[in-house]
Amino acid sequence: MNSPNEALLAVRDATQLQKDLAESYDVIVVGSGAGGAVVAKELAERGVRVVIVEQGGWHRQHRDLPSEALQRLYQTSGFTMTIGNTVIPVPLGRCLGGTTVINSGTCFRLPPVILKQWREQRGLTELGDEELTHAFDRIEKFLHVAPADFKFMSRSNTLMQELFAKEGIWGAPLQRNAIGCSGCGMCCYGCTHFAKQSMDVSYLPCAIRSGAVVYTGAQVTRILSEPNNPHRVCGIMAKAGKHTLQLRAKTVILAAGTLATPQLLRKHRIARKNPHLGKHLTLHPATKLFAEFDEEISGWEGTGQAHFVDVLKDEGILFEGIFVPPDLVGMTFPFSGEKLSAFMRHYSRIVSYGFLISDSSEGRMLSLPFLNNIFTYSLSETDLTRIKKAITFLARILLKGGAKRVITPVHHRLSELTSLADVEQFNQLTFRASDMEILAFHPLGTCRIGRSAAEGVCDQNHQVFGTEGLFLCDGSILPSSLGVNPQMTIMALAMRLANRLVEKN
Ligand SMILES: Cc1cc2nc3c(=O)[nH]c(=O)nc-3n(C[C@H](O)[C@H](O)[C@H](O)COP(=O)(O)OP(=O)(O)OC[C@H]3O[C@@H](n4cnc5c(N)ncnc54)[C@H](O)[C@@H]3O)c2cc1C
Ligand code: SF4
Repeated sequence: MNSPNEALLAVRDATQLQKDLAESYDVIVVGSGAGGAVVAKELAERGVRVVIVEQGGWHRQHRDLPSEALQRLYQTSGFTMTIGNTVIPVPLGRCLGGTTVINSGTCFRLPPVILKQWREQRGLTELGDEELTHAFDRIEKFLHVAPADFKFMSRSNTLMQELFAKEGIWGAPLQRNAIGCSGCGMCCYGCTHFAKQSMDVSYLPCAIRSGAVVYTGAQVTRILSEPNNPHRVCGIMAKAGKHTLQLRAKTVILAAGTLATPQLLRKHRIARKNPHLGKHLTLHPATKLFAEFDEEISGWEGTGQAHFVDVLKDEGILFEGIFVPPDLVGMTFPFSGEKLSAFMRHYSRIVSYGFLISDSSEGRMLSLPFLNNIFTYSLSETDLTRIKKAITFLARILLKGGAKRVITPVHHRLSELTSLADVEQFNQLTFRASDMEILAFHPLGTCRIGRSAAEGVCDQNHQVFGTEGLFLCDGSILPSSLGVNPQMTIMALAMRLANRLVEKN
C-alpha cells in the first residue's frame, strides 16, 4: 500500500485557527477538485503565489466502509439532488481533492465531435485542438492513465465483456488513472491504497511542493470587490471554524464545482443580469441493471467501473461497468421486505452494468426567498426514450447470455424480466421519469463559456463577463454535455486557464 504524500503535511487546517487571519497572494483558487487543483499546480510551478481554499477536510486514510465515506467525503452525506419530473441524486465530493476523491477513476478525453460542435456551433474558436491535445497528453502522463487491467476487474465487468463479445459487440477496458490498483473496488469511497490519482495524491502535493498554500475547512462566504470599483475583485472571505480567513489577490479563480460556483456568483450579485447564470445544467443521467446468474460473481471484488461499450454512442448512450457494494445497494432495488432479503441472499451471483446518456434536457438553479438555491431538472421525452433503449439493449444481452432474471431500474410490475418476450413487452410500455431510478455523477454547464455575455457567463479565457479578475475553472464552464466522463476535460481546460493567466502577466 502507498502512503499519503508527505507534502500534504503542509496543508493548513483552518478550523484550528486561533484568531482571524488576513493574507495576500497573487491568485486565490476556491475549491481543490479537478479544476482547482490543476490550475493551482500549473500556476505555482511557474512561480505564481497561489492559495487554495477548500471547505472540506483532508482525510489522511480511507477505510473500506462506504457508509463512513459518505459522511466524511461527500457533500451532505451524499444527499444532493435535483428536483423536477423526478428526483435525481447528484453526489458531490466535499474534501481535499473534491469529487475526484470519490470518483471511479475513469479517464476520457473530450470527444473531437464535441469540440467541433463547440467551435462551429457556439463559435468558441479559441478552444484550440492542438492546445487541448497537448494538455490531455500531459495530464494522462502525470496521472499514469492506462487501460484497466483485466486481472483486477470485477467479474461483473469481465463477464459482460464475454457476453458482448458473443454478440459481436466491441467492448474494452476503460482508461483509468490508478497506478498500482489492487482492485479492492472502493474507488467511490476514497481509494484505500492511494492508487487512484485523485487530486489529493497527484496535483495538490505537486502544487504544495511548488509553494502553493492550502487551507482546508475554510468555506468561502464572500467574494470581495475593490471599494471604488465593484466590477473588480480583490479577494475572498472564508468561514474557518470560529474565525474568518480574509485573503487578498488580484486574481480569484472559482473552482467550487458546477452547483456551488453559480451560487457564489449569485450571492454576490455578480453576473446578476446574465441570462445564462445557473442555467443549462446537464447531468449525464445514469442508471444500471442487475442480473442474476448461476455462477458466483462476487461483483464487489475487483474494480467496479473498468469496462465500457460505446456501440450506441451516436445515439447518446455510453455503457460502463458499475458495481454498488452490498452495504449500500438495498434501497436501490425496486423491492422491499422478504423479496428484498431473498434477493440480497443472492447478491453474490449478481452482475451489474450501467450507462449514461448525453442529455438533451437542461436544468437550472432556482433561488427561492428565505431558502437556499435549489436545482431543477426534468428529463425530456428524448432522454427517456434513450434510457429505455439502453435498458432494453442491455437486458437482451444479459438474458441471451444466460441471466436467470434481469432487474431494471424501472419501478413497475415489469421491473423483473426473465425472457426476451418480457423485454419486448417492456419495450412497448410508456414510462414517466418518476418511474425510474436515475442518478447523475457529472453536473456541468451552469456558467458556460461563451463569446459574449449574451451567450455565456465567462469568456474564452474563463473570465466572468463584466467582472475583472474573476475566473471560473470547473465543470460549470463546459458549454454542453460531453457523452463521456468529464474529469479530464475539466483538467485540460484548467491547464489552458493557467496558460492564459501566465501569458497575461
Ligand atoms: C461517484 C462519482 C463517480 C465519478 N466518476 C467519474 C469518473 O470515473 N471519471 C470522470 O471523469 N468523472 C467522474 N465523476 C465526476 C468528476 O469527478 C467531476 O466531474 C469532477 O471532479 C468535477 O470537478 P470540479 O473541479 O468541477 O469540482 P469538484 O471536483 O467537485 O471540486 C469542487 C470543490 O470545491 C469545494 N467547494 C465548494 N464550495 C466551496 C466554498 N464555498 N468554499 C470552499 N470550497 C468549496 C468542494 O468542497 C469541492 O472539493 C464522478 C463523480 C461522482 C460523484
Ligand atoms: S479499485 Fe484500485 S483505484 Fe479503486 S479504490 Fe481499490 S485500489 Fe484504489
